[in-house]
Amino acid sequence: MKLHTLGSWGGYPFQDAGTTSFLITSQDGFTLLMDAGSRAVNELEKVLSPMDLDAVIISHYHPDHVADLGVLGHYRLLYPKKEKKVLPVYGHDEDAVRFGQITMPGALDGHAYDVASGTSIGPFDITFIKTVHPVVCYAMRITERQTGQVLVFTGDTGYFEGLADFTRDADLFLADVYLFEGHENHPAHLTSKEAGEIAKEAGVKRLVLTHLPQFPDEGMETKDHLEVLRQQAQVYAGVIPVDLALPHREWDLGEGAQ
Ligand code: ZN
Repeated sequence: MKLHTLGSWGGYPFQDAGTTSFLITSQDGFTLLMDAGSRAVNELEKVLSPMDLDAVIISHYHPDHVADLGVLGHYRLLYPKKEKKVLPVYGHDEDAVRFGQITMPGALDGHAYDVASGTSIGPFDITFIKTVHPVVCYAMRITERQTGQVLVFTGDTGYFEGLADFTRDADLFLADVYLFEGHENHPAHLTSKEAGEIAKEAGVKRLVLTHLPQFPDEGMETKDHLEVLRQQAQVYAGVIPVDLALPHREWDLGEGAQ
């Protein structure tokens, strides 16, 4: 499977790039949009017609993860094409109001994923674990049945015991790293250090940082704070390669996760 970044800023769009959204493509061509942050539709258009998308999965209902979900529905509804199919959108139903708002008749159809025993979407088997975040959010472990390749996405989360076990032996670990080293045990997001440590403990093949901070910490003297963030994670990840999920970077999990 392939993972393609559409947006990776945390919280809000910034300087011509959007917030959390990724396109996952299976070996047999099934396409899954993972979170639908701001600009997701525009960035998706550069690689795939939004009309050809097969499914969407949402980690949680914060605006920076669902900002473009409604306009994706409008796109599918209003696009001048006779044959239209309703797009399945998977989310948790622990917030009944927000879950109910997913469905847009004729365009988007909300499905609750099964957080207890997992959910299959096309060629993927997906299991879930609840994260540490101000609203209910699920991390997901996505296994491609045909290849056995595994992608783990943290959604948004602070550190918790059990995340490394959930992430065990993943080909690619996509982690929310909104914070620099020194802010550990935050109630909403991981630090570079925590992500690196989890990657090492879990024995993943590659760590990719997302939910990126727009600015360095106060007093941090650097022209490239994202490279500082990456290098901090790299120190704790050891020999595991660490990348930034910059827009339109792509990883093929079948090629040693690169
Ligand atoms: Zn969030």
